Amino acid sequence: MLDIAIEGGTIYDGYAGEALLGDVGIKGEKIVAVGRGLGEGKKRIDASGRIVCPGFIDIHSHSDFSAVINPNLDSKIRQGVTTELVGNCGFSACPILNEQHRADLSRKYAGSGMEITWSWPEEYFSILNRSGIALNIGILVGHGNIRTAVMGRSSASPTQNDLERMKRIADRCLREGAFGMSTGLIYSPGTFSTKEEIIEVLSAVRERGGLYATHMRNEGGRVGDAVREAVECARKAGVKLQVSHLKAAGKENWGKIEEAFEAIESATGEGLDVTCDRYPYIASSTSLDTVLPTWAYEGGDDKELARLADAQTRATMAKEILERHLNEDYWDRVIVSYVWAEELKKYEGKSLAAIAKEKGEDYCEVLFDIILRDQLRTEMVSIAMCEENLEKVLKKPYSMIGSDGAAKADYGVLSAGKPHPRTYGTFPRVIAKYVKKGVLGMGEAIAKMTSMPAKKIGLDRRGTISEGAYADIVIFDPEKVTDMATFEDPHRYPEGIEIVMVNGKVTVEKGRFLGVLNGRVLRKGIRD
Ligand SMILES: [Zn+2]
Repeated sequence: MLDIAIEGGTIYDGYAGEALLGDVGIKGEKIVAVGRGLGEGKKRIDASGRIVCPGFIDIHSHSDFSAVINPNLDSKIRQGVTTELVGNCGFSACPILNEQHRADLSRKYAGSGMEITWSWPEEYFSILNRSGIALNIGILVGHGNIRTAVMGRSSASPTQNDLERMKRIADRCLREGAFGMSTGLIYSPGTFSTKEEIIEVLSAVRERGGLYATHMRNEGGRVGDAVREAVECARKAGVKLQVSHLKAAGKENWGKIEEAFEAIESATGEGLDVTCDRYPYIASSTSLDTVLPTWAYEGGDDKELARLADAQTRATMAKEILERHLNEDYWDRVIVSYVWAEELKKYEGKSLAAIAKEKGEDYCEVLFDIILRDQLRTEMVSIAMCEENLEKVLKKPYSMIGSDGAAKADYGVLSAGKPHPRTYGTFPRVIAKYVKKGVLGMGEAIAKMTSMPAKKIGLDRRGTISEGAYADIVIFDPEKVTDMATFEDPHRYPEGIEIVMVNGKVTVEKGRFLGVLNGRVLRKGIRD
C-alpha cells in the first residue's frame, strides 16, 4: 500500500515535454510509481484540475543564515521551493576561519538571535540537522570566505603560499559536501581578485567535479567582458559555469545584453557547460554600500566605516561616484529597502533622490550618512533593468530561474524591512506572469525550475517526477497561482501553491505551512 496517492493530476515530470494526466504514488521518501490506477494510498490527494510537478530548486539562493535563524524558511517553502542552493555571490555561511570575519558577521546579524559558532561546512550542517529544516539545502563555498580566511580583506595579490592555502580550504569544503564555489566580483574581497587567482583556486573545485557560479565583475556597460572573463576562468580551470542573475543594468546598457548572449553562446558552441539564472523582476537588490568605489572596502568593515566618517575621503568618494552616476534618474531608482538602525527606519521604501530632497542634502552625503549610521547593514533595491531583456533571458534554452533572495517570513526577525519581493514571489511569478503571457510554455518553465538546476548542481534523483526520485513535489492551481509580494508590501506569500511535499512529507497543505521540518542537508558526492 502507498503512503500517499496523488490522484488525477496534470503531471509535468520536470522535463520540458507534454503533461500526462495521472497519479503519483509515494512510499516513504520516494516516488514509487507514476501512471494510472496505482492502488490505494493511506493518504489520498485529489489533484484534479491541478498541476503536479517536482518541487522547485532555487539554484541562486542566499538563505545561508536565514536557515539558522528560522528553519521554516517560510518565504521559500510557501512558493513550492523544496531545495535551495545557498552560498552564492562569493559569500557563504562557511567556512568562517578568522576572528575578524566572525566579528563582522556577528555585527551584521546582531539581534537575530543567531550565534555564529561554526567554522567549517560540517559544523554548519550539523546545526541545520539539529534544528531541522523545512526544505533541502545544498551549499556553494564563497570565494570571499576563503580569501578572507587567508588574507583578511586585503586588496593585495595572494602569494603562492596564500594560493595554496586557499586551494586547501576549497578542497576541504568540497570534501565536506559543498557543490562548488561562487565568486562575487563586485564585493569585498572578491573584487580584489584577478582571474588568475580565481582559476588557481577553482582547480580544487575541478578535482571534485564541482560547479563555478559567479556574480560577475560587471553587469552594466562591460557585461560582455565580464561574461568572457567568467568563461575564461571556467575553461582554464576545467569546471562548469553558472552565470548568476544575468542582466544588463542601466538604461544606457540594455542593448549590451546581446553581447552577453553572444559570449555565452560562443562558449556553449565550444562544448563548455555554461548556463545562467535569472529572477523574474527588473529590479535588483544588494547592499547599499556597493554604490561606493571598490577601494572603500579595502581592509575590512572597520576601515570602510572610518573612510565614511572622514570628510576628505567622503569628498574623494563622492567625486568618483558622481562621475559614474551623474543623472538624477539613477538616484531616483535606488531605493532603501532595509535598515537596521531604528532612527533610519523612516527611509525604508524611499529613493535616495527623495531622501536627499527631503533633507536638502547632496545624494552622496545622504548615501554616506545612511551607510555609516547603519553600520554597513543597509540594503537597497535598484530599478535598472528592462522587461524586454528579462523576457529574452527567460527564453534562452540555457537559462534557469533563481530567486537571488534569502528566506524571509511574515513574523519574527526575518519580517523586517521591505526586501525585494523575489524572496516571496519568484517561482509563482514565472508561471503567473511569463507562462500566462506566453513567454514560456508551462513544461519549459517548470524544467527551468526543476530538472535543469538539478542537473547543473549534480543533484541525484531530484528535480523530476519519476520512479525512484525523492518525493519533492508541488501541487498548484494553474488558474489561481499568483505572486502577491510587491515592492511596497513584500512580506506576502503567494496564492495557488496548495501542496508542497519534501522528501515524502506534506509540508504545506491548503497553502499553509504545517511546521514539518523534513528537509535535509544535501552534500555533493555523499549519499544521504
Ligand atoms: Zn549576486
